[in-house]
Amino acid sequence: MKKKESVTVCSSAAFFKQAIEADKELRRMGFAVKLPYTAMKMKQSGDYRPETYKIWFKNPEQYGRKTWLIKNHLQKVKKGDVVLVLNYEKNGIPGYIGGNTLIEAAIGFHYKKPIYILNPISDKLDVKEEVLGMRPIFLDGNLQNIAPEKKEKVCGRGHRYKGRNPCPVCWPGRNKRK
Ligand SMILES: [Zn+2]
Repeated sequence: MKKKESVTVCSSAAFFKQAIEADKELRRMGFAVKLPYTAMKMKQSGDYRPETYKIWFKNPEQYGRKTWLIKNHLQKVKKGDVVLVLNYEKNGIPGYIGGNTLIEAAIGFHYKKPIYILNPISDKLDVKEEVLGMRPIFLDGNLQNIAPEKKEKVCGRGHRYKGRNPCPVCWPGRNKRK
């Protein structure tokens, strides 16, 4: 049996609530998902404020924590099959991608992983040049575009199905062809 394809989610901590939502949707599509450690902690505690977790801002002696988090997620990028960047508006910049996410995408790029970016980026993004240089695939705001063959479709009679073949209920013979 083929191993499930895995998606490593990368984003600013400000978007980890959306990362939890994306996790659910990707799992429904049949992917294994690797989330940032802090996103999982946020899900457990229900506290989605990044400042709760960024303890090194208050106490620079805690920077080791940030080091650990960077290393932890880079391992996930390395092990995963593809990188998915979740980018939304932050500080008036649509499709914001921050320094940490750029590091992660760059490591994915280095390991030749396909890089998907959920939303378009704008000229206001200071790392636009570097992001475009990694030749990412933009999903136009729809997570389902990451795998068109896994997109759920509804036929004219209302059956829900996935895949490139026609509706398997209405056209049972068609799916025998592989
Ligand atoms: Zn049908």
